[in-house]
Amino acid sequence: MNIHEYQAKSLLRACGAPVSDGRVVKKADEAKTAAGELDGPVWVVKAQIHAGGRGKGTFKEADAGDKGGVRIARSASEAAEEAKRMLGRTLVTKQTGPAGKQVNRIYIEDGAGIATEMYLALLVDRQTSRVSFVASTEGGMDIEEVAEKTPEKILSFSVDPATGYQPFHGRRIAFGLGLKGGQIKQCVKLMGQLYELFLAKDMEMLEINPLIVTDGGDLKCLDAKMGFDGNAVYRHPDIAELRDVTEEDPKELEASKHDLNYIALDGEIGCMVNGAGLAMATMDIIKLYGAEPANFLDVGGGATKEKVTEAFKIITSDPNVKGILVNIFGGIMRCDVIAEGVVAAVKEVGLKVPLVVRLEGTNVEEGKRIINDSDVDVIAADDLKDGAEKIVKAVKG
Ligand code: ADP
Ligand code: MG
Repeated sequence: MNIHEYQAKSLLRACGAPVSDGRVVKKADEAKTAAGELDGPVWVVKAQIHAGGRGKGTFKEADAGDKGGVRIARSASEAAEEAKRMLGRTLVTKQTGPAGKQVNRIYIEDGAGIATEMYLALLVDRQTSRVSFVASTEGGMDIEEVAEKTPEKILSFSVDPATGYQPFHGRRIAFGLGLKGGQIKQCVKLMGQLYELFLAKDMEMLEINPLIVTDGGDLKCLDAKMGFDGNAVYRHPDIAELRDVTEEDPKELEASKHDLNYIALDGEIGCMVNGAGLAMATMDIIKLYGAEPANFLDVGGGATKEKVTEAFKIITSDPNVKGILVNIFGGIMRCDVIAEGVVAAVKEVGLKVPLVVRLEGTNVEEGKRIINDSDVDVIAADDLKDGAEKIVKAVKG
């Protein structure tokens, strides 16, 4: 689960980390008051969407002289004007994809004088099963590009959970970033605060890009991105409250209500599979035969008829879907139950695209009989390869 920059900054502020003062605005007529509450003399007006790259982003239907999603203003009234100009419009950045995201909230904050911009992140490192720090002097830019072209400019190490965060970790980052004097002490303190917050809130990712040295020589978090482990959010009602469902894919939102693991993708073949591993393998083999999956969908081990029906509804609501592959292994689930579910779902939802069904496992013969005896228009497949070949052929001819 992701949250907005202004929400992340309020969590940072609460644990004592240095951030600028700011106000969030949801309606244009709130902008003037909000901007007026800040000191200035420079205001920064920032579009709040769950995607980075806002500064270099562009608005759809750009008006003349339009700037990106992060704008500088020289007075409170100018800041309010910029906020009004961005609200309700669609911002396209490297991370939003071509569709972009609608800007429904604006964060107005005090402008900082910047001496240097650096990069800092904490994340769960699956290789070491630990929390890792990632730091670089190359802040404010595309960290993926830095990693690719100049990997030596990235410092990364993980923290042993037995000792937890220690001041030497902070010093290692401070020296790696070339910090001097009092900044080193600030860095040791800040890294400790970030590490504790990361653990306390079950985060998956915390990115400060840029972390800056101000013109006064102090550290400050100028941007903040936080991602939380969705399976742990129930432990943190304060974090759950920050969820902004308007930032989420409506299909994914619907799926989460029915306890389905669904991720929307760009391809043309809808997949309904049980088990994450089988779902991955199904997506792979669809690609192998020359098509692209429209989604990842794991209906889970205990898929009921109702769940299968909901899954069908979600898959068919995607206009990109030109064919559906159902690939179910009846382990705990019985194939006959699944077959009944598929038939019922097709009858309820209707089917406008080809459907290939591959069943394997417990009661598979009974399952196949149910599908064959039904009057729904299904192409039966014998195995994974056969299923993938048939659906790709049905879609691509
Ligand atoms: P994004 O990463 O989405 O582009 P950032 O918050 O990182 O958004 O802002 C982009 C750039 O704008 C930063 O790298 C920084 O140079 C500038 N900036 C952002 N916030 C402020 C601020 N409060 N004061 C001064 N400059 C800022
Ligand atoms: Mg940034």
